Amino acid sequence: MKRTPIPRPRADEPALRTVTLKGRSPVAERTMEFRFDKPATMTFKAGHTLEVTLISPPETDEGGNTRTFSIASAPDDDDLAIVTRLRDSAFKQSLQTIPLGTEIQIEGPYGDFLLHHNLDRPAVLLAGGIGVTPFHSMVRQNALKRGLRRILLFYSNRRPEDAPFLAEFRDIARSNPNFTFVPTMSQMERSGLPWAGELGRIEIDLIRKHLEGNASPIYYVAGPPRMVSDLREMLTGAGISDDDIRTEEFTGY
Ligand SMILES: Cc1cc2nc3c(=O)[nH]c(=O)nc-3n(C[C@H](O)[C@H](O)[C@H](O)COP(=O)(O)OP(=O)(O)OC[C@H]3O[C@@H](n4cnc5c(N)ncnc54)[C@H](O)[C@@H]3O)c2cc1C
Repeated sequence: MKRTPIPRPRADEPALRTVTLKGRSPVAERTMEFRFDKPATMTFKAGHTLEVTLISPPETDEGGNTRTFSIASAPDDDDLAIVTRLRDSAFKQSLQTIPLGTEIQIEGPYGDFLLHHNLDRPAVLLAGGIGVTPFHSMVRQNALKRGLRRILLFYSNRRPEDAPFLAEFRDIARSNPNFTFVPTMSQMERSGLPWAGELGRIEIDLIRKHLEGNASPIYYVAGPPRMVSDLREMLTGAGISDDDIRTEEFTGY
């Protein structure tokens, strides 16, 4: 008898998968990267998100056992990575204490916060703090693909201590003329580190200073909702069309 094949999700369709926690390392103050093995059948694009669920975690609270995270690793990296600010929720406490090798459920990839196709138009990425995670994936992937796309990353943090991936972005900018990296700090008076870069928040004049005169970029903004709405307002106030602005709000901050 001929068997009817069992329908399987395509590799690029959202699916529930079980992965194991492979590693965790601090990437800034109170900020941790968590790495998982990447299932062989899983593909995703830079900018996609995952729903991460802890299975029988040691602690639970009313916030539940699931959170949404942008994938911080690049599609061509061997592992899957997420990066998060450490806070008091049971979810994050558990994520820090469960043993390596623990199974975790992921669902995805989800989302449409993806880079545009037209390489003639630069991508201007505006990140507030932890909002840098999808941009880390985009910038890394572009570097792995010989840096063909023009990308400018404006990255705002209170202090260098709070800013994941500073050194890595600087390295990529040094070796790739298509990538411009502009970090800026808004509370250097509270920092113990030296800083010779930009100060203050991301302002339209700072973007114009680094953007080529005839460029017609697409703008991407990611971070806490308040910061995303402030930056969107700044961009539209400067005459940039809504059609050229894409945003990802990290609800929960
Ligand atoms: C598209 C997307 C991408 C994200 N990417 C990242 C990332 O890369 N790194 C990262 O650290 N965080 C990311 N977040 C936020 C993340 O999902 C958590 O909400 C955040 O890390 C806070 O978690 P927590 O456990 O510390 O606090 P929580 O226990 O989640 O509590 C924070 C507060 O926010 C509320 N809240 C939580 N989730 C939601 C929601 N979906 N809608 C409305 N209210 C909510 C809670 O009720 C609570 O009042 C992302 C969120 C979204 C939507």
